Amino acid sequence: MVNQNIKNEMIRNFKRRNIEVSFFTCLKDACEKIQQLIPISKTVGIGNSQTLKDMDISKILSSRGNKVFDKTLAQNKEDSIKLKKKALLSNWYISGTNAVSIEGHIVNIDHSGNRVAAMIYGPDNVIIVIGKNKICNTLDEAIQRAKNISAPLNAKRAGYNPPCIKEKRCVDCKSKERVCFNLVIIEGQHDKNRMKLFVVDEDFGF
Ligand code: SF4
Repeated sequence: MVNQNIKNEMIRNFKRRNIEVSFFTCLKDACEKIQQLIPISKTVGIGNSQTLKDMDISKILSSRGNKVFDKTLAQNKEDSIKLKKKALLSNWYISGTNAVSIEGHIVNIDHSGNRVAAMIYGPDNVIIVIGKNKICNTLDEAIQRAKNISAPLNAKRAGYNPPCIKEKRCVDCKSKERVCFNLVIIEGQHDKNRMKLFVVDEDFGF
């Protein structure tokens, strides 16, 4: 359970960076909040995330009428490219991330970078959903988490075999199996209403 002092510190630190933090006891509550916030008439892009898969958010939003662009539902590579591009200009974007710091950083490690591109610019509103396992004390710890925990687990999930899977840490490989080409730190937002961080009080994703 995330203790109240950490919650308060995160709320304060992220607010200074124009990012609103909300805490939820379970994924279902976070899912309901997302449905309340996003009008049915708006388009929604989805970033690849195990947490969002667990939430089943693409299906929930599509079935109530939102136009959803989720590349993980693509039928083939061409379709995937189209969905990724459409998601970049959607009204809302929902994503996970790999680590956040209590200091207020959001740290992402990505393969092609479509997820971080949409988080940074394009969609008018962004919601980032994480489990409490993604909370780190400092920026440095968040970067270490992204490289040494998230990247190897995501590589394995996607069927790649870079050396970090065996080594259980990043060795900055130049392997053909390399999965991470973009290490992106979001330090804040210019528009204070654009980005929201939803923290669920359970462990989810990598
Ligand atoms: S650079 Fe290579 S070793 Fe490091 S996390 Fe990425 S894939 Fe793994």
